[in-house]
Amino acid sequence: MTKLANDTSTKTDWNKIRSQFPVLDQKINGQDLVYLDNAASSQMPVIVSDRIDHYHKKEHSNVHRGIHSLSQKATDAYESTRTKVQEFINARHKEEIIFTTGTTDSINLVAQSYGRKNFNTGDEIILSEMEHHANIVPWQLIAEETGAVLRIVPMNDAGELDMDTYESLLSEKTKMVAIVHVSNALGTVNPVKEIINLAHQNESLVLIDGAQAVPHSKVDIQDLDADFYTFSAHKMCGPTGFGVLYGKKEILQDMPPYRGGGDMIDKVTFEETTWNDLPYKFEAGTPPIAAGIGLGSAIDYLNEIGMDEIASREAQLLDYATKRINDLEGVRIIGTAKDKASVISFLIDNIHSTDAGTILDQKGIAVRTGHHCAQPIMQHYDIPGTARASISFYNTEEDIDKLIDGIKYVKDFFS
Ligand code: PMP
Repeated sequence: MTKLANDTSTKTDWNKIRSQFPVLDQKINGQDLVYLDNAASSQMPVIVSDRIDHYHKKEHSNVHRGIHSLSQKATDAYESTRTKVQEFINARHKEEIIFTTGTTDSINLVAQSYGRKNFNTGDEIILSEMEHHANIVPWQLIAEETGAVLRIVPMNDAGELDMDTYESLLSEKTKMVAIVHVSNALGTVNPVKEIINLAHQNESLVLIDGAQAVPHSKVDIQDLDADFYTFSAHKMCGPTGFGVLYGKKEILQDMPPYRGGGDMIDKVTFEETTWNDLPYKFEAGTPPIAAGIGLGSAIDYLNEIGMDEIASREAQLLDYATKRINDLEGVRIIGTAKDKASVISFLIDNIHSTDAGTILDQKGIAVRTGHHCAQPIMQHYDIPGTARASISFYNTEEDIDKLIDGIKYVKDFFS
């Protein structure tokens, strides 16, 4: 991510890339749309929406069940996504790729399945101060049920984790370390390889919330050696309602199912039910098939551009936007870690972020405002929320310039 900041990206025609996203070519409130809310949901290139459309028009059928050809077509298309995800994150086995409805669902699966079986009174789950609520609340729920306790790694004012405290929190009581790879509210890229390594030396398992990492740089799961890793399709040019839980095969094999129903069983009688093999043991019921096929197409699309190329382009845009925002008087960036992804949270003078966001929206500029589902971060800075511009590779310097003009307009408006 930032280490690529000075690379000059020459291979890709970014204007052509941008033209592949029809949603960007429209007016909002009479102004050209400037979409800077990519951390919430990225946009979908036409090739992905066409692929989903093709499924609906030509392949729609249930998966894994039918002997008929249409069902086989749908199953092949849907299952090809599993192979694409496996290759995309360099997982060892296809069975390690569990399909879920998104990061939130993936984390709940691990908390409810692994946690319920393995956590006992006094066991500890280490989280960090910069977690998204999706990586806090599922652990709170299972902690309440099992008597486990949450321990929190603090961060400094730049938004970097205090690694000394992390090390000191690790003990024989630590059953799980659950940490975000890239913070959605601050942009911080955490040293997850080191976090995982230290946890493993302590014989603790690690779940990494990769919702904001996978869309922006190459993630090699074997190199990281995470036990669990989670992400969502809608943040990586794919559709909503679909996501991934990666888990190491030997750990997943030992975990009980999280939900019961069709597809996840081997044999059912009223006396006893046995489970299907991985990954289906965790995939009860008819899945969002079109969305799954859409994720496969999104991965093809990202691969075609190249994840290094994407990381490099986004680092350039982050650099440019950071410099321009820093030049504005009265604008404070929240989250100034050394290693950052393309997220800029900011405050304009004493203006409430919701007011700032509303005025920016009148100018056609889409940013997110509020606590970004990370209230403990806001508690750290003692602020109610921030405005957040999150940049994708299809944004341009011109988008950033329009954001800067918009911020100036907000300042004038409230002065
Ligand atoms: N973790 C992080 C870091 C996120 O940014 C998000 C989405 N904002 C989530 C988890 C939850 O993702 P989803 O809503 O797709 O389940």
